[in-house]
Amino acid sequence: MNLQRKPSFDSVKKYVLDIFFPNRCPFCGKVIKWSDTCCRKCFDEIPFIVTEHCKKCGQEICICNKTNIYYDSCVSITDYSGIVREGIINFKLDKAVNLVDVFKDDIYKKLSDTIDINKIDVVTAVPMHRSTKRSRGYNQADIISKTVSKVINKPANSRLLIKQSGDIAQHKLTRLEREKAVKGLFSVNKKHIGEIDGKTILLCDDIITTGSTLNECARILKDNGARYVHCFTIASTSMGSGKKESI
Ligand SMILES: [Zn+2]
Ligand SMILES: [Zn+2]
Repeated sequence: MNLQRKPSFDSVKKYVLDIFFPNRCPFCGKVIKWSDTCCRKCFDEIPFIVTEHCKKCGQEICICNKTNIYYDSCVSITDYSGIVREGIINFKLDKAVNLVDVFKDDIYKKLSDTIDINKIDVVTAVPMHRSTKRSRGYNQADIISKTVSKVINKPANSRLLIKQSGDIAQHKLTRLEREKAVKGLFSVNKKHIGEIDGKTILLCDDIITTGSTLNECARILKDNGARYVHCFTIASTSMGSGKKESI
């Protein structure tokens, strides 16, 4: 710690926590400095998206004319491959919730390159069924939405949508099969309709594959009056990559 400068309460808290609960790299699990978000080696391996993706559907190979896209834009930071794939699995199963912190700077940059952040009214998350949330203890999309909300300084409310049933886990489905499978899976939480009707919503999730889940959530939000729905995910994959993802 730099003793020349008076440390902030936050940094003291982190420093003390580090003694008892060492900070770990969310990708490889190696102990890292309390001021770091991941180890150097892993950072160098992050497959940041450098190719142009369609700003509306969020896909590298645009699907806007193949299906009705209800959301207005979608941005992702990395490809769902290599170290990020491992990191997201740890994030979902092993409580490596500090994964999102690695991308704090990129979240702001990517979003402000695509949308007018000032116009966002609320940041929300793709919901998890309550039984899954109970067994896992948290919804990873909710953690992402809370970090995004802090980064862009807009309110978060992860209760706008409700998932009606559990995950259809690890099924490799085509885009059309996914579209069918997500129909009726989500509804709005009527208690929060005031934060949906007429509002511009930023919807967060960990991964986008075909966009069927985000699209169905956006459809429900728009049916209930949302003016604009923008999407944000950490990673993006495509059906052609052969990777499996739960919908
Ligand atoms: Zn690492
Ligand atoms: Zn497109």
